[in-house]
Amino acid sequence: CGIVGIIGKENTTDILVQGLEKLEYRGYDSAGIFVTGKNKEDHLVKSLGRIADLQSKITPEVQGTVGIGHTRWATHGKPSERNAHPHTSSNHQFILVHNGVIENFEELKQEFLQNKQLEGETDTEIVVHLIEHFAEDGLVTKEAFKKALTVIKGSYAFALIDKNDPDTIYVAKNKSPLLIGLGDGFNVICSDAMAMLAETNHFVEIADGEMVIVKADKIEIEDEKGNVVYRESYEAQFDL
Ligand code: GLU
Repeated sequence: CGIVGIIGKENTTDILVQGLEKLEYRGYDSAGIFVTGKNKEDHLVKSLGRIADLQSKITPEVQGTVGIGHTRWATHGKPSERNAHPHTSSNHQFILVHNGVIENFEELKQEFLQNKQLEGETDTEIVVHLIEHFAEDGLVTKEAFKKALTVIKGSYAFALIDKNDPDTIYVAKNKSPLLIGLGDGFNVICSDAMAMLAETNHFVEIADGEMVIVKADKIEIEDEKGNVVYRESYEAQFDL
């Protein structure tokens, strides 16, 4: 299972698909991508099976300047196209990919989402609806995401897009791998540096509990208490 994301480049779709191919070794049963951009249409493509199956469903108009991709190893809900990530909130504003397991998703559903129509079988869908719920309560997206992180128990690497503000990918991790890759005028995210070595070899680690705002020209890391964290990037050395 794995996550990729990119913001600030034109050939987003190709980069996501190539990145997901590099993560195939981690194992998966389904895959999906979401691509959008300022004044661009939204494209959500998901498929059961191989990356090649996903690729065969991607038409030329699937283009954008920001996107996230996911390979799923089902833990809650059978492998199916519907249960494949990315998942969207009811109002379609929020799009989320997740690796890991949300242990208290039933409790979260009971406590916060009684009034929501949930068809979902996956633990991940609870989280995207939770973010929407906190946003409906008046929180801006970053705060809604952070609030969701405080009530979630379990392991996660998350990448979130708010369609109303496609200049940002919101990222967080706890006990599941996720890295930021730094580019010239763009930035990437990935579960494993290998997925994005074709784009950059400068990476920044994220510590458990941190939340990162990823934009095309900068990243901002915050710890659990909301303090800004400064961290040097490192150069990945791999034989390509
Ligand atoms: N628990 C989530 C699901 O079953 C994510 C699984 C994964 O890490 O791919 O959909």
